[in-house]
Amino acid sequence: MSDILKLLDKAPIWKTLTQTPKQIAELEARVAALEAKPREAEHLHTCGQCGQPASVTAVRDHPTFGVFGKKIRTITCQAGHAIEYDWKPE
Ligand SMILES: [Zn+2]
Repeated sequence: MSDILKLLDKAPIWKTLTQTPKQIAELEARVAALEAKPREAEHLHTCGQCGQPASVTAVRDHPTFGVFGKKIRTITCQAGHAIEYDWKPE
């Protein structure tokens, strides 16, 4: 732990990062966005019930929030499970 910190302390980029908390916050937000993307896609391609390959088979307006552009996507797998997910298209 401390060895790693010592190493990082010698790296110019690390010093820059520690001196600019705003940049760190921006980087954290970017990492969070990147980490969220695969998870977002995964639930559209894998059944949440049995883990088999699945795909989007239907999209409809959200009954309550459809007026705000919110949708509901139905994900159906090979075993016939149909799971609905709220979806807000960007
Ligand atoms: Zn399934």
